[in-house]
Amino acid sequence: MENCIFCKIIAGEIPVEKVYEDEKIFAFLDTHPVNIGHTLVMPKEHYLSIYDTPDELLADLAPVLKKLSIAVKSAVGADGINIEMNNGPAAGQIVFHTHVHVIPRFLEDGFQHWRGARGYRDDEMKDVRAKIQGALG
Ligand code: 5GP
Ligand code: ZN
Repeated sequence: MENCIFCKIIAGEIPVEKVYEDEKIFAFLDTHPVNIGHTLVMPKEHYLSIYDTPDELLADLAPVLKKLSIAVKSAVGADGINIEMNNGPAAGQIVFHTHVHVIPRFLEDGFQHWRGARGYRDDEMKDVRAKIQGALG
């Protein structure tokens, strides 16, 4: 897609440190890593985010995420791996070409997960569960 930086990268128009490529999937190092080895994995075909990406392509992505998690962890001697995907501006997505972050983690790297402080009140949890099940159809 025109004007998509990741499409340009996949087409070879912008140089990157490529770590993986097959018929449908492409992966390269993030220029602004959370930790060294932070890798972006994506379908070659342009989709905006998880919402419009075909199920089959997400299924193609999954084994590559596993393969790269193992490889990145081993390559940088990480203690763990976060698999992360930002969908939509509110979730921190900046580049609107479907992609997943493979982020190496170290016991002492100092990063902490965000934690919701609010909890649920009364029947709120039941209500939300019912709404989600309703939305699933
Ligand atoms: P998002 O917030 O959209 O999930 O993350 C986009 C990621 O793409 C960011 O972490 C950013 O550092 C990375 N990125 C953006 N432009 C480029 C680029 O031109 N080359 C590389 N290697 N990474 C990029
Ligand atoms: Zn694109």
